[in-house]
Amino acid sequence: MPPPVFRFAPSPNGYLHLGHAFSAMLNFDLARQSGGRFLLRVEDIDPTRCRPEFEAAIEEDLNWLGLSWERPVRRQSEHLSEYRAALEKLEGLGLIYPAFESRLDIAKLIAEQKVPHGWPRDPDGVPLYPGTSRSFAAEKAQQMIDAGVRYSLRLDMAAACARVGSIGWTERGEGPEGETGAVAAEPAAWGDVIIARKETPTSYHLAVVIDDALQGVSEVVRGQDLFWSTSVHRLLQELLHLPQPVYRHHRLIRDASGQKLSKSTDATGLRELRAAGIDPAEIRRRVGLA
Ligand code: GLU
Repeated sequence: MPPPVFRFAPSPNGYLHLGHAFSAMLNFDLARQSGGRFLLRVEDIDPTRCRPEFEAAIEEDLNWLGLSWERPVRRQSEHLSEYRAALEKLEGLGLIYPAFESRLDIAKLIAEQKVPHGWPRDPDGVPLYPGTSRSFAAEKAQQMIDAGVRYSLRLDMAAACARVGSIGWTERGEGPEGETGAVAAEPAAWGDVIIARKETPTSYHLAVVIDDALQGVSEVVRGQDLFWSTSVHRLLQELLHLPQPVYRHHRLIRDASGQKLSKSTDATGLRELRAAGIDPAEIRRRVGLA
């Protein structure tokens, strides 16, 4: 049996906080305890938000926490051709279509529907895409692309689900409602998700699935906020014939008012805590790791 492979996969769009520290240390500890490998992956596909100085700061903070990882670090922005190849496979299956609506257009389209009980939302609370561009004839879509209209590439969810049938995953942690063990995936709850953008041949969902497969990640350990994204990841793994890791979603670290941490602040940022004289052992204690 090859050793298990774990990874911590931050996006370098800000500084690390206690929530990141918990996730990284948990991955590291699980790798150590199981004789496994620990990888760091930089999820930097969004050039508008990711910056090299944040990446450098992430490595510095993780070093300070006492973690070490294999090199070279995989940086997603350096692997666009691998994502493009996967996208082409999905296109070849006829499961991808260009969608031309901006977020504002989508909001207007939904408002026009006047649905009495509200428009359905995805597990993150975002209104589902109404599917308007799905029915465009290929020539019309091509004309719009040629005219330079911005677009995203969306997955035809109904067709994708019909192709793979029922799927699920093994959960070693816990979902938001205590889901554990054999969990049934519900990708349809996400509607026609964005799989790539005009200027970037991938999205979070596609890149994460390709990278986990290429890096041989066998156990995905990450926050519960990504629990239901796993449904999309499992669907893509089936469509692309990729191996499925097991998943371990962990509790989220919350601030004093009970909110999930989203930005590093004086109270939660690792740099700030370090400057205030807090040591890594105390960070472990604060996030509840022995
Ligand atoms: N890059 C994602 C984030 O920072 C994590 C991806 C994952 O663990 O699957 O939230």
